[in-house]
Formats: sequence, structure tokens, C-alpha cells
Amino acid sequence: MCPDTTAGYINAGWCIVNDLRKEYCRKCGALLRPDEIAMTKKLINRGTTIYYCTDCLAEAFDVKCEDIEEKIIYYKRMGCTLFQ
Ligand SMILES: [Zn+2]
Repeated sequence: MCPDTTAGYINAGWCIVNDLRKEYCRKCGALLRPDEIAMTKKLINRGTTIYYCTDCLAEAFDVKCEDIEEKIIYYKRMGCTLFQ
């Protein structure tokens, strides 16, 4: 058995599981939309595994909830790879 192939298979499997895994807001426990996960990555750190909902992001960055929603739309329009 080729070790490289095995590693590739495991990595691919992990990616699929990771994509389907449900994420919850670290602060209030709300079920997160993919957009909210992408926004947390954009605002905090691309590699973060701790995510927040729109409400908690707005509170943390001292902006309005609508501002976060607007930014999500903005980044989607820009074609940001995090928002797909
Ligand atoms: Zn929250």
C-alpha cells in the first residue's frame, strides 16, 4: 500500500467531514450559517476553529448586526474564497 495515497485519502475524508460538521457560536451557542463561519475567519483569523454568530461578532467588534451582514454581502460580491 502506498503511504502517500493513504494520507491523501484520509485528508480528503477529513475535509468532507469538516465541511458537513455543524458549528455553533462559541459565545451564545447558536447554530451557525456557513456565512457566519466565513465572517469569523475573515474578522479574526483564517485558521480559527472558534466561531461566532453575527450577533456576537457585532458585539465583539462594537458594530451593528446589519454591518456584519453588509460585510458578508460585500465579501461575497468581491468573490472572497471564504464565502462560497
Ligand atoms: Zn452568538
